[in-house]
Amino acid sequence: MGQLVKDYIHLKVSSKIKRDAYGARARRLFLLKSMKMPVPRAVLLSISAVRKIQTGKRLDIEGILAQFCSDDLFSIRASPEHWSWGGPPTIINIGLNDRKYKEIKQKIGIIQASKLYLRFILSYSIDVMRLDEEIFDPILNKNISENSIKEALMIYEDEMLELFPQNAKDQLEQVLNSMIRAWNGTTARLLRQVHNAPENAGVGFIIQRMAMGLGRTESGSGVAQFVNPLDGTKRVTGRYLSQSQGKDSLEIEHSLFLTKDKRGRSLEEHLPKIFKQLGEFGTEARIKTRDELELDFTIEDEKLWLLDAAPARRSARAAIRIVLDLVSDGILDKRVAIKKIEPKTITELLHPQLSPLENCDILCSGIAASPGAATGKIVFTSAKAQNLALQDIPTILVKLETGPEDIRGMHFTKGVLTERGGMTSHAAVTARGLGLPCIVGANSLKIEAKSKKIKLSDGRVFNELDFITIDGASGKVISGEMELVEPAFDEGLSDFLNWAEEISVLNVRANADTPTDAKLARKFGAKGIGLCRTEQMFFENDRLLVMREMIFADSNKDRKVALDRLLPMQRADFEEIFHIMDGLPVCIRLFDPPLHEFLPRERQEMLELAEALDLPVSNIIERTKELSEFNPMLGMRGVRLGITLPEIYEMQARAIFEAAVFAQKSNVSIIPEIMIPLVSAQKEVELVRSYVEKVANDVRLETNYYFEYKFGVMVETPRAALRAGDIARSSSFMSFGTNDLTQMTYGLSRDDAGRFMRDYVAKGVYTEDPFHTLDLDGVGELLLLARNRGRKEKRDLILSVCGEHGGDPSSIKFCCEANFDYVSCSPFRVPVAIVASAHYELEK
Ligand code: PEP
Ligand code: MG
Repeated sequence: MGQLVKDYIHLKVSSKIKRDAYGARARRLFLLKSMKMPVPRAVLLSISAVRKIQTGKRLDIEGILAQFCSDDLFSIRASPEHWSWGGPPTIINIGLNDRKYKEIKQKIGIIQASKLYLRFILSYSIDVMRLDEEIFDPILNKNISENSIKEALMIYEDEMLELFPQNAKDQLEQVLNSMIRAWNGTTARLLRQVHNAPENAGVGFIIQRMAMGLGRTESGSGVAQFVNPLDGTKRVTGRYLSQSQGKDSLEIEHSLFLTKDKRGRSLEEHLPKIFKQLGEFGTEARIKTRDELELDFTIEDEKLWLLDAAPARRSARAAIRIVLDLVSDGILDKRVAIKKIEPKTITELLHPQLSPLENCDILCSGIAASPGAATGKIVFTSAKAQNLALQDIPTILVKLETGPEDIRGMHFTKGVLTERGGMTSHAAVTARGLGLPCIVGANSLKIEAKSKKIKLSDGRVFNELDFITIDGASGKVISGEMELVEPAFDEGLSDFLNWAEEISVLNVRANADTPTDAKLARKFGAKGIGLCRTEQMFFENDRLLVMREMIFADSNKDRKVALDRLLPMQRADFEEIFHIMDGLPVCIRLFDPPLHEFLPRERQEMLELAEALDLPVSNIIERTKELSEFNPMLGMRGVRLGITLPEIYEMQARAIFEAAVFAQKSNVSIIPEIMIPLVSAQKEVELVRSYVEKVANDVRLETNYYFEYKFGVMVETPRAALRAGDIARSSSFMSFGTNDLTQMTYGLSRDDAGRFMRDYVAKGVYTEDPFHTLDLDGVGELLLLARNRGRKEKRDLILSVCGEHGGDPSSIKFCCEANFDYVSCSPFRVPVAIVASAHYELEK
């Protein structure tokens, strides 16, 4: 036998336990001990000891047992390096055997003692030896007696072909080994991955004497925390149950409340001294651990013991309140407070959440494209959503995929569910912009829009107006109507965001296309608009027809007539946005999408257009065919339209400049930024720049007002990134459109990737969906290369990311490291981005 593993330590006031050596739980327990609180005797097994055991080495169990009395029973708790990494459930009462059972019977009576021993036999058999739970059903269906123990031991022996282990050493060894195996199992690894745990995440263990909770005089167990888990306000919450162990008090209806409560008896009334002592421990522990805790306690023959401390359970709202109070009580430094809040918590706060998730009938899942939960009646068209919204009936818009024609309807629905699509498909991008919960790529359901049905793979069918619920944070589609917790953008959050903003170096702007978005952008603390997608403005009902007239125009003259009608509409939009964004930069992207997105699809739309243009409908059908492309995302779009139909960009530039003049007249301070999409060659930039400059000069002369503006490009094609040096000569800024750049770098359709993305991620082909989290190795390299080439040519070139990655915390970290000037993301992600960027500065 090789050398025994001896990396364990007896928990003492003087032990100096560090988290990275013994895990977070051990560290917290040590803090309680160091305050001389009554913590039962414990031995802490280090993370390095567990690693050695994993390589086949044996633990010095005898050495551990020598630290305790021979009569002690034990619990084993996992102590992961970071508390959010979970770990196998605690096993209690280790050391119980026939002899101790006999002794305990004398002390607490046959029934209680039998319950205790049976509980241990079952937990050892099921959790440790992995026997089927059902084999013990015949015992559980009868009243507990000594016979139950005999039967349970017989079942164990029949299954395992050996006697139930009678010595603590064997039991301890088996329990520990099974807990270590569970820590390494696939389920545990997947759960940890969600919390960004590293592949070799470490765990230690706490072997602790059981404070029994069962005895002749007052004994029992409970769980206490000192803040309300829903809103974080000060309130003692939790339960206590006489003659119990573990978390029993939380499961049993007649357990006592802790503090006085109208609903029933409380520990405060029943055992006032102990209640007071518990409160004092809570207050002291809060100061020492600089967090609100949940304390597991046991009363053993009238003496209070603290067994374990975990961070108090808290909703997103409570999490913010807790750190604000810790800072205002002088316990926590602001900087530490910011680090304690994960960006994800902010997302949850800004959107409705499901409550509670456990009782959901999950129908299927898709890509979680826009966070928040929504519940409503199924509708298959935007028109129906709008119709029902007028009657205050909530809806979920369910479509194969959405297109620009749905934007209006999306304003009237509570959530969007599509069968196709990926993180940057139309539905996903638009929903994030609107703060609307959205799931895309739910391809295990089949949407039959004509018969107004959704068919699920298990054969279930949902019809129009049936209720469903979607959770855009987890991608789960749920049957029926669910209760939701409403979002809370309150003073507390706003204070917290102000702190984060003081630390953040990277600026955060918003992608905002409308005055409503712009207002949200300001409310959420955006430092300007980083992307105003102007085409969205043309999908409004009154404009779509004029837009179509412009597209179908045969001659420049006819086109100009339509554009002249669009000009005042567009100018009015900009005037309003400038007004809202007074004092902040507004970056406006000129027309980008392929024209085919504006073509009429339904016959009715074709008839309307034929009438407006005074043309036969056959002509419209013919022209629609001519204008359609095989591959529109790589076709006539972005700057290519600007070059071939310059009148469109000229009209937009004029609208922007005239609005800038209007702003000046109204004392609104704005320097507009004009951005050209889908560039791939410097010549494109030069040409468009010359038209734009001419329009600027014309407007200056006509109005007699001088205004400034900035001119820049979107880097969305790999070639633009490669040629960033030339392009920088004609641009004062470059914004990386990482949605298109990811699409083109991978050769992966952003609208269709949802079909296989989950398989790709599950099989480890991609570590993450690259439309969600920036691909640092490929797309990231292009970004850095473009940065180097661009800034070499122009040292003060302003760089930013305005694709969806601009709102993703790990992509934001990359932008901070790359020394970009700002990121731009949908308004609802602005607070998340501010916190993520502050985290980067604090971790730097
Ligand atoms: C992009 O491609 O990253 C971008 C911001 O533009 P859009 O999503 O409108 O194509
Ligand atoms: Mg783009």
